[in-house]
Amino acid sequence: AKVEKRSIMWFRKGLRLHDNPALHKSCQDASHVFPLFVLDPFFLAPDPTAPSPGSRTVGVNRIQFLLESLRDLNASLESRGSKLLLVQGNPVEVLPELIEKWSINRLCFEFDTEPYAQDRDQQIKEICDHRGVEVHTPVSHTLFDPREVIAKNGGKPPLTYQAFCRKLGNPPKPLDDATVKVPAPPGDLKDVKVVPVPSLEDLGYVDLKEDFTPFRGGETEGLKRLEESLANKKWVSEFEKPKGDPTAFLKPATTCLSPYFKFGCVSARLFYSRLLAVYAESKKHTQPPVSLEGQMLWREFFYTAGYGTPNFDRMVGNPICKQIPWKDDENLLSCWRDGRTGYPWIDAAMIQLRKWGWLHHLARHAVACFLTRGDLFVYWEKGRDVFDRLLVDSDWALNNGNWMWLSASAFFAQYHRIYSPITFAKKYDPDGKYIKHFIPALKDMPKAYIYEPWTAPLSVQKQANCIIGKDYPKPVVDHAIANKKCRDRMGAAYALNKQAAPGQPTQEQVNTL
Ligand code: FAD
Repeated sequence: AKVEKRSIMWFRKGLRLHDNPALHKSCQDASHVFPLFVLDPFFLAPDPTAPSPGSRTVGVNRIQFLLESLRDLNASLESRGSKLLLVQGNPVEVLPELIEKWSINRLCFEFDTEPYAQDRDQQIKEICDHRGVEVHTPVSHTLFDPREVIAKNGGKPPLTYQAFCRKLGNPPKPLDDATVKVPAPPGDLKDVKVVPVPSLEDLGYVDLKEDFTPFRGGETEGLKRLEESLANKKWVSEFEKPKGDPTAFLKPATTCLSPYFKFGCVSARLFYSRLLAVYAESKKHTQPPVSLEGQMLWREFFYTAGYGTPNFDRMVGNPICKQIPWKDDENLLSCWRDGRTGYPWIDAAMIQLRKWGWLHHLARHAVACFLTRGDLFVYWEKGRDVFDRLLVDSDWALNNGNWMWLSASAFFAQYHRIYSPITFAKKYDPDGKYIKHFIPALKDMPKAYIYEPWTAPLSVQKQANCIIGKDYPKPVVDHAIANKKCRDRMGAAYALNKQAAPGQPTQEQVNTL
C-alpha cells in the first residue's frame, strides 16, 4: 500500500504560494503538510554595536520586510485551511528534531545557490538520507538552473552576458496553482514550540515608524506591484535601463520589484512569462541587456557566475577578481556609509539607501564607483557589506557581482570611466530636488551650488542657513585629485594582473603597488 506522506515544506526564500514547486511536491499524496519557517536568532537578534539599527548582519528594514512577508504567508496558508509553523533556532539543529517528533518522511525546500545555504542544506540532506527521509529541492528562485547553464558551458559559468545568453533556452513556465490544496498539519504538534510571527518590538527593536522603507513585505503586496509595473504596456515595451532617472524618488524609474524577488515573494518565472506576454502584444520592444527582460537575465547571469566561482564574495582566492591594493580606511568608509562625504549627490543616495533600503541602479553605480575606483579607493568588500546590511533587496550573488563590476574588479574593465559625483546626477535633476529631499540641511541652497555647496560664497551659505563645514561637511577628498590617484593605482594594478596572467599576482606583489 502507498505510504501517505507527512511532509515538511521548509520555507526560506520563496515566501509565496504561487509558482512554488517545492510546495506542490510537499502536497502530493500527503496526509499532512507542515509549512515551516525557522527563525534563527543568530541573524535576527539586535546588535547594539552595529553601525545602524539591526542585527549583526541584517538592517532593521530587511528584518521588518521579512516579518511582514511571513505574516502574509501565514494569512495565505490560513485561507487554505493551513498555517505557517514558526519555530526558533538553528535549522540544522531544529529540523532533525521536528522530523523525529512529527514522523516526517518527506522534506521539500527550494534549491538555494548561496554558499551559506549550500552548506546548511547539505548537512540537512545528509541527516535526511541517514533517516530515510525523501528530500526534494526544485529550482524556482531563478528562471534557469545555474547547474545546467554551467554544464552547457563546459563546466564553467559564462563570464560575459552575451556568452551567457547564448546558453539559454526558454525557462520553465510558472506552475498553474489555482488547484493546489495544502493538507493541514495535525492539531497535535507533539510539544514543539511554535511561535506567532513576532513584531519588531518582540525581537527587541524600537519601531522606526516614519523613517521607514516604503516597501511592505509579502506575496500579496508583491503581486500587486507586479500587476502595477506591467500595466503600462508602453512603459514596459520601451524600458531602457540606462535611460532611467536615478534621482526620481516620487515615482522611481524602475519596477522596484527587487525586494520581492530577493525573498521570493514574487516568482521570477511568473514575472518573466507575464513580461513576454506584454511583449507579444506590442509591435516593438527593447532588447537585452537594456530591456526589462534584460534585467531579469542580469539576475540569472550573476546567479550563475556566483554559483560557479569559488570565493565569489571576496577578492583573495577569487579567480575572476582583479587583485587591487584597495585601502582599509575606516574614516573614509564611515563618511561614505553615513552620508558625510560632502558630495551632496553621493550623500543623498547613501541616506536614501539607509532610509528606504533601496536605490536606483545608477545611484548604486555612482556610490559604489565613488567608494572604490572613483575617489576613495576603499575595498569593494567593505562597500558590499554596507549594502548587504542596508538593502532590503540585498542578494548575495547580485550584490557581490555588481560590486566587482563597479569596482572594475571583474566583468568590466573600463576603470577610467567614472561617475562624477558633481556632474552625473545634475543631468537628471538640475534643481537638486533629490538632494533637498534627502538632506534637509541643504534645502535652501540655491540650485547653482546644490551639487558643490562648498563653492557657495559665505553670504549665500548664511542665507541658506547652511554653513559648509558646520551644518553640512566639506568634501572628504578633492574629486579631481583623488580620481587621478585612483586611476594611476588602477592602471598599475591592471598591469600587474596582466603580467601575472593566466594566474593572479600574489598579495605581496599587490601590496608593493
Ligand atoms: P528593475 O530595473 O525593475 O529590474 C527588475 C529586476 O531585474 C530587479 O528587481 C533585479 O532582480 C534584476 N536586476 C536588475 N538589474 C540588475 C543587475 N544589474 N544585476 C542583477 N540583477 C538585476 N540587486 C539586488 O536585487 N540585490 C542586491 O544586493 C544588489 N546589489 C547591487 C549592488 C551594486 C553595487 C549595484 C550597482 C547593483 C546592485 N543590484 C542589486 C542590482 C540592481 O541595482 C537592482 O537589482 C535594481 O536596482 C533593483 O531595482 P528594480 O527592482 O526596480 O530593478
